[in-house]
Amino acid sequence: MARKFFVGGNFKMNGTSESIKKIIKNLNDSKLDSNVEVVIAPPALYLQLAKAEVKQPTVQVSAQNVYDKPDGAFTGEISVSQLADSDIHWTILGHSERRTLLGETDEIVASKTKFAIDGGLSVVWCCGESLAEREAGNTVAVVERQLAALAAKISGADWQKVVIAYEPIWAIGTGKVATVQQAQEAHEAIRNWLKAKVSDDVAEQTRILYGGSVKGDNSKDLAKEKDIDGFLVGGASLKPEFVDIINSNL
Ligand code: PGA
Repeated sequence: MARKFFVGGNFKMNGTSESIKKIIKNLNDSKLDSNVEVVIAPPALYLQLAKAEVKQPTVQVSAQNVYDKPDGAFTGEISVSQLADSDIHWTILGHSERRTLLGETDEIVASKTKFAIDGGLSVVWCCGESLAEREAGNTVAVVERQLAALAAKISGADWQKVVIAYEPIWAIGTGKVATVQQAQEAHEAIRNWLKAKVSDDVAEQTRILYGGSVKGDNSKDLAKEKDIDGFLVGGASLKPEFVDIINSNL
């Protein structure tokens, strides 16, 4: 079964009611490739607004994070059941900004992923190496370490709820996109790892997105690679060119 192309828009801590309405209006007014699954992740405060504004049947709304505990005394956090109650079915987890700035370890990210899946959410699970790790030749080792922590927590049908985003940290928000070859190599390594450590089916069916300075003018070439099944887009998801990225295969 062919993997459905997937494009995520990670708004991060950006936007106002007005700007988010404008971004969504642009999506609503555009012709989007109907073969692409699109997920936009505004800040939590605007999830409901985004949900009310989206009119495109292929566009869903996602959180950017969850907490891995049932509802309770966790000031400032958002629970999986609250998202489900709000009819939000996706979350991003393990973004490198949360790993590096908020101290989320491989184990915390894996635990959140399991908790989210058990609560009915699908997850865009992020991984990727720093510049120092790449320069030391450790890209694959780092990503495999992150994957191993995930595989220790989830199993079987859980994998159907996971989309992997490979995002080299040095390419995020820097304008320095990975070359097509660098991206394809990392994606192939991830797929091979899934094949060796999880199963042929999971390796074959799991979407692996590339993220890091994806723009309207570099997405078409990246999209042609056999192991690149879509994108996780930061900065450009706030701009009209997000539509060009969604339509990379047209
Ligand atoms: P960027 O961010 O597209 O702005 O580089 C990507 C991401 O952090 O997901």
